[in-house]
Amino acid sequence: MPISPDQQAEIDALRSTSKPTLRAVSEGMEAHLYTAHEVLDHGFVRVIDYMGNDEAICQAARVSYGKGTKSVQNDEGLIRYLMRHWHSTPFEMCEIKLHVKLPVFVARQWIRHRTANVNEYSARYSILDREFYIPEASHINAQSVVNNQGRGGVLEGAEAARVLEILKSDSNRAYDHYESMIGTEGPDGEPQDGLARELARMNLPANIYTQWYWKVDLHNLFHFLRLRADPHAQYEIRVYADAICKVVADWVPAAYGAFEDYRLGGATLSAKALDCVRRMLKGEDVTQENSGMSKGEWREFEGALK
Ligand SMILES: Cc1cc2nc3c(=O)[nH]c(=O)nc-3n(C[C@H](O)[C@H](O)[C@H](O)COP(=O)(O)OP(=O)(O)OC[C@H]3O[C@@H](n4cnc5c(N)ncnc54)[C@H](O)[C@@H]3O)c2cc1C
Repeated sequence: MPISPDQQAEIDALRSTSKPTLRAVSEGMEAHLYTAHEVLDHGFVRVIDYMGNDEAICQAARVSYGKGTKSVQNDEGLIRYLMRHWHSTPFEMCEIKLHVKLPVFVARQWIRHRTANVNEYSARYSILDREFYIPEASHINAQSVVNNQGRGGVLEGAEAARVLEILKSDSNRAYDHYESMIGTEGPDGEPQDGLARELARMNLPANIYTQWYWKVDLHNLFHFLRLRADPHAQYEIRVYADAICKVVADWVPAAYGAFEDYRLGGATLSAKALDCVRRMLKGEDVTQENSGMSKGEWREFEGALK
């Protein structure tokens, strides 16, 4: 269960009180504050705090004294201009603080994004819960034969069942051993010292869940989402990125719209690729062989045009 009834009661209590503020708020984001959005089997993403909104981006870009808003259309146009021309610092004026619960192997990919501030749950101090990511049957795939860094078709029948059983039983066995090592009662009921938590955790598999607070500015969040909400990103991190995308779309609709248009849905063309487009527009029959591009580049170029 991603959120226990006690944790939900704490969230409800936070959401039932409000304080007046002079600061910029986003109505869309207020609706998300504290609420847990479930991801995978035990994970979630929830917004703990945020700073700024679409207007704040424009205010920073114009270095204005007041709200800085000329009109909503003006603001949207300015935000699209900033995004289009990689004028990124105004986006850094907005911040978001998330509480994320995620499997350790997903956290290892996530932590590579160095521009965030992170504080992780301490498994030296606390005892980890018996919560492991076990994929749904539709997400247990074979190794891809075309992409070494990806997955192919869904495993089926006896193989799928055996993989699922191995994942479940290994996770539980490792956790049983974890408990028996940190416990102060030995296997026959006799007292024992109990192994330090910081050591016992080394035996736990990478599908166990961890949690952290993750704070990042909007510019670097967009960079994270560009890479991790991409169809080539691993499914297990992509679902977190997708959940965050929905929150960001409500928080800063104009900035998210520009990001979706220029980055998520857009493509960057090399000089050679651009030359091919020009030749195609003139009616020339351009192929990989006469494009000047490698097979891989050509495949990606075709993919971008489709
Ligand atoms: C599909 C995919 C496959 C991947 N495969 C692998 C893999 O096989 N092995 C592996 O190790 N990693 C892999 N990665 C991780 C990848 O190499 C990056 O580490 C990760 O995506 C973080 O990107 P970043 O450094 O741009 O982001 P951030 O750390 O958030 O940095 C954002 C930007 O800030 C700047 N920056 C931050 N820190 C520095 C710095 N110290 N010096 C210079 N500039 C800095 C850079 O411009 C950077 O782009 C993969 C990532 C993806 C999306």
